[in-house]
Amino acid sequence: MTLHPAAITIDVENWFHPELVRERVPADDTNHVVRAGTEAILEALARHRVSATFFMLGEVATRHPDLVRRIAAAGHEIGCHGMTHEPLWRLTPETFRRELRDFRAVIRSALGADPVVGYRAPTFSLDRTTAWALPVLREEGFAYDSSIFPMPVMLYGVRGAPLGIYRPAGDDLARHDPQGGLIEFPVAVGSLAGLRLPVAGGFYLRALPLWLLTAVLDRIVRSRPASLYIHPWECAPDLPRVALPWTSALITYFQLDSVGRKLEALLSRYEFLTMRAILERQGHLEAATTRR
Ligand SMILES: [Zn+2]
Repeated sequence: MTLHPAAITIDVENWFHPELVRERVPADDTNHVVRAGTEAILEALARHRVSATFFMLGEVATRHPDLVRRIAAAGHEIGCHGMTHEPLWRLTPETFRRELRDFRAVIRSALGADPVVGYRAPTFSLDRTTAWALPVLREEGFAYDSSIFPMPVMLYGVRGAPLGIYRPAGDDLARHDPQGGLIEFPVAVGSLAGLRLPVAGGFYLRALPLWLLTAVLDRIVRSRPASLYIHPWECAPDLPRVALPWTSALITYFQLDSVGRKLEALLSRYEFLTMRAILERQGHLEAATTRR
């Protein structure tokens, strides 16, 4: 049986950007959690000779252009995680377009080129209320999106969205339209006895035991590519802790010390490619025509 590849994606934001934390701390980059965490991830990827997709936050790329250069020089894909980590729920088509253009300018100034074709919304905020973002992405030169979380969870998600790669219809994000202008590469959600189970990253990756993660992912790669996501702040040795309500504290801090070990195990278990390489290999993206 041929197994499908998987993609590791890294949402490169600082520790104070996540939605549950940002209201409670000043945005203060005096410590370098994002650098330490990104470096730890880069080292793990290099040990396993794996290429990954780094969805950079524009604010981080502005402050740390050398980090963008190091990621690109190591052969990884650079994608866009927005400029400010403001979710689409609080943007308009106009302010969103501004963020995308500002982001491309930051990447061009860091790299001297703009290779970005993929986008991940902050907090998976692309849902039925923010579907206006898809045509804006297309118009701004993006070829694929990885922001639709294919099940409703506490903060986000789209009920009934496909679990595999598809093209969202203009009038219904959860419907595949072969003529759709953008490719969607959802993060891994397994299906077990008719129930959907998120395994791709963040709290789910930290909370679930490795045997269950790999059991679900093994099933996924037998039928379609999988995609995982992690954050540098989950991999930094000295993450500042903020007093949060207990559910938010659980989602943010539960089993952080398991991320490194699980990442190592997953990196040795599956074939990993960048999202772009998977889409090109599977014929969703034409390599020659999407190079910018
Ligand atoms: Zn994020």
